[in-house]
Amino acid sequence: MTEGIMLVLSAPSGCGKTTILKNVMADLPGLVFSVSHTTREPRPGEQNGLDYHFVSRDQFMAIRDQQPSGFLEWAEVHGNLYGTSRQDVEARLADGLDVVLDIDVQGAARIRQNAEPVTVFIAPPSLKELERRLRSRGTESEDSLDVRLANAGKEMQDADAYTYLIVNDRLDEAVESLRSIIIAERCRRRCGLNGLKIQLGNNSAETGSNG
Ligand code: ADP
Ligand code: 5GP
Repeated sequence: MTEGIMLVLSAPSGCGKTTILKNVMADLPGLVFSVSHTTREPRPGEQNGLDYHFVSRDQFMAIRDQQPSGFLEWAEVHGNLYGTSRQDVEARLADGLDVVLDIDVQGAARIRQNAEPVTVFIAPPSLKELERRLRSRGTESEDSLDVRLANAGKEMQDADAYTYLIVNDRLDEAVESLRSIIIAERCRRRCGLNGLKIQLGNNSAETGSNG
């Protein structure tokens, strides 16, 4: 079985990353979302186990301190703790699924140290529009909004470290861009595998995941 692709997505809060991802996942088979653990409070409509595993700080630390750590990476973001489940991600990659990690720039940097993920940074068309979207979502207190907007500029300084950059101006175009990136990366990987098999004189190429 060919291992799946690890896809890391980062964006300033309110940029539209969740919206884009939900659209892409709705019609691209073989793609699964890595549900992170977080100490932040659930927003209205968010479901435990689907959007996040909502845990206390003590529970988070206990997972972090397992040997080896239960988290592939973890970070403090906007005053809350967030971590990616090691077991969840490794098992699904081993099953040949392409796994999406929605993580911040610190988490992406940590993942790059130990793996070769495909990384995508999603930027807003402007900081003014970012603020408008964050406010219109209506999920943040004024304090949380200030923290997220203050961090946005810093996060965008890391955009050049990513494999791809998408500017989420028109939603349909951003969705198409992410979909195209995933399909292209699947083709790239398949090409490498077939090349190797043809070289070895075996034409019964295993093509791996969809796309
Ligand atoms: P994130 O996951 O990056 O924090 P969301 O996906 O929750 O952001 O989007 C923040 C808000 O912006 C939501 O209300 C969403 O409907 C809206 N939004 C997302 N993309 C666009 C877009 N291209 N144009 C206008 N509004 C958008
Ligand atoms: P939110 O609170 O808006 O859901 O997420 C805030 C930030 O935390 C976003 O940038 C999101 O990508 C990031 N995040 C979510 N899960 C993780 C994780 O497991 N690890 C890291 N490093 N960041 C995460």
